[in-house]
Amino acid sequence: MGKFAGLYDILCSEGLITKKDVVKLEPASWQNLGLVHGADFLFRLRHGLLDRTAERRMGLPWTRAIVKRSRVATQGTILAGRLALEDGLAANLAGGMHHGYPDHSEGFCVLNDVAVAVRTLQRENRVRRVLIVDLDVHQGNGNAAIFEGDDTVFTFSMHGARNYPFRKERSDLDVALDDGTSDSGYLGELEACLDDVIDRACPDLIFYLAGVDPVSGDRFGKLALTRDGLGARDQLVLEAARTNGIPLAIVLSGGYAASDMETADLHAIVHRVAAGVGE
Ligand SMILES: [Zn+2]
Repeated sequence: MGKFAGLYDILCSEGLITKKDVVKLEPASWQNLGLVHGADFLFRLRHGLLDRTAERRMGLPWTRAIVKRSRVATQGTILAGRLALEDGLAANLAGGMHHGYPDHSEGFCVLNDVAVAVRTLQRENRVRRVLIVDLDVHQGNGNAAIFEGDDTVFTFSMHGARNYPFRKERSDLDVALDDGTSDSGYLGELEACLDDVIDRACPDLIFYLAGVDPVSGDRFGKLALTRDGLGARDQLVLEAARTNGIPLAIVLSGGYAASDMETADLHAIVHRVAAGVGE
């Protein structure tokens, strides 16, 4: 959990953001959460009534604080989407909880912030079509399941074939990578499909789940990207959005380096890239 504060400190100390760039948030409303999540699940989550199986699936012990931070993270993704539509580019320094399902939490993901943000922005008539680019090393199974059969939301996930979740859902496009995939293989795959994905999705907005767990040495990743490879990946995505004139909202997603500060430093890469895009 230390990576969140660490990332904020790095971005401030490098001058990538100043206090005026930062927006503080209320928790997402239960009403907006209800655009994706079921009423029974939300009731249990709110009142601490999850059973042992549900808690084990979530991967975290239920506390009021966990629920509140997940709601705040979700509001951050909603707001990053709104701000991206105004400014072209915005970020949530949390979120990307892509294993969250409508009726249960999974894999440390209590709620599904990106799905809630998509549905909220659609309901507000700010967007019609959305593209989810999910480059966290784990498949975005929650989003794939939630948006399966929905032509307005295109889900693209590039992930480790032999990594969690072991039963994959079907995204609009899945690219499954072998263990040990390095920069050249990874970037080749991404470059080969990115333009086509944007063409097919024809989005008003992109949510980019910029997880840093594909990096070599990640405790759960099993891939072998270098730091430079990670930066090149982010550059490809941000440039593709910019050249196509599509607003993009970055969310955090996974990253499990040896220490919180190392992880935070990896998460800072996409922000360093973002600061230079278009210059
Ligand atoms: Zn992950």
